[in-house]
Amino acid sequence: MVDLVLEAPARGKPPTHLLDLSRSERRDAVKELGLPAFRADQVSTHLFSHLQDDPEKWTDISASDRETLQPLLPTLMEPLRSLTCDDGTTVKTLFRLHDGSLVESVLMRYPDRVTMCISSQAGCGMNCPFCATGQAGLTRNLSTAEIVEQVLAGARALAHGDVPGGPGRVSNVVFMGMGEPLANYKTVVAALHRLIDPAPEGLGMSARGITVSTVGLVPRIRQLAEEGMPVTLAVSLHAPDDHLRDTLVPINNRWKVAEVLDAAWFYAEQTGRRVSIEYALIKDVNDQRWRAELLGEMLAGHLVHVNLIPLNPTPGSKWTASTPQAEREFVQALKEAGVRVTVRDTRGREIDGACGQLAALES
Ligand code: SAH
Repeated sequence: MVDLVLEAPARGKPPTHLLDLSRSERRDAVKELGLPAFRADQVSTHLFSHLQDDPEKWTDISASDRETLQPLLPTLMEPLRSLTCDDGTTVKTLFRLHDGSLVESVLMRYPDRVTMCISSQAGCGMNCPFCATGQAGLTRNLSTAEIVEQVLAGARALAHGDVPGGPGRVSNVVFMGMGEPLANYKTVVAALHRLIDPAPEGLGMSARGITVSTVGLVPRIRQLAEEGMPVTLAVSLHAPDDHLRDTLVPINNRWKVAEVLDAAWFYAEQTGRRVSIEYALIKDVNDQRWRAELLGEMLAGHLVHVNLIPLNPTPGSKWTASTPQAEREFVQALKEAGVRVTVRDTRGREIDGACGQLAALES
């Protein structure tokens, strides 16, 4: 039986929405409202398959039943504004949640794919000094429905032809917006189910197209490896040595580089998926050749790919991105060690949609 919050919610926690629930919970919830369980599947099909969230258009459900369903379909987030760049193919949307919290998602359309960068928390408690979200602290966890709705909003915009390039679909989702997804573990795993499970259970995306990015919460990485959902794991390493990582990614004081990498290799073993190592290149901080060589040594021979991210300096930051030459040398050292490496493109910079900048200007 589902514990429904049908009254006005306590500040913070959003009201329960059908998208928070698994298919069988949705069927139960609908029965509790006195409707046949199949109504839950009809609504799910509208939301996930037809990408239609306007109940007025659900003509296979009577008007009175649509009315009865309303308590399970509260408005969770309102788009406050959208900013676009790259000729409209990068779209950042700022949402206001029911309690006034702000979160953002970014849709990036490429010739061969559409990636959505989504948030898992309002704010973040991990306190990484180079990240704008980290500076503001944690407001609260998002609910499963609030996470899934970010993807559905993008999917609807694409399906309805609102993004230049004709109708399309979301092929990739990265949990690289605001928040530490593994600090909101159960909710994020439920959201992954909603994204991956086939309709009417969920959206039916390929797990391979989904990336969960973490600072390295070791027990949670190991737990995720056992969930049976082979999503891509990205680990935000940013330094190969504990001395520096203790300051760049403060959770390193709890779980050290070697433990994080062990968990990453366990993840690769369990899922067969190549792990991504995220490394923001910060001028004269973590971009020395010896650090590239040390990183190469630690990663060589593993199922891994390094994603170098030119630092996107936060307002007032004392740090800047590495020089192109330092970046080239870093890439070269990793290649010499036999480690696959790419430099991330930095879409959305002009609209503060790039890494760590989400919603910072609003808060
Ligand atoms: N909390 C998760 C996911 C959110 S951030 C994590 O840390 O992995 C997604 C990625 O952007 C992380 O690798 C993060 O370290 C990186 N990032 C944050 N701020 C950045 C900045 N100013 N410049 C470049 N990368 C940044």
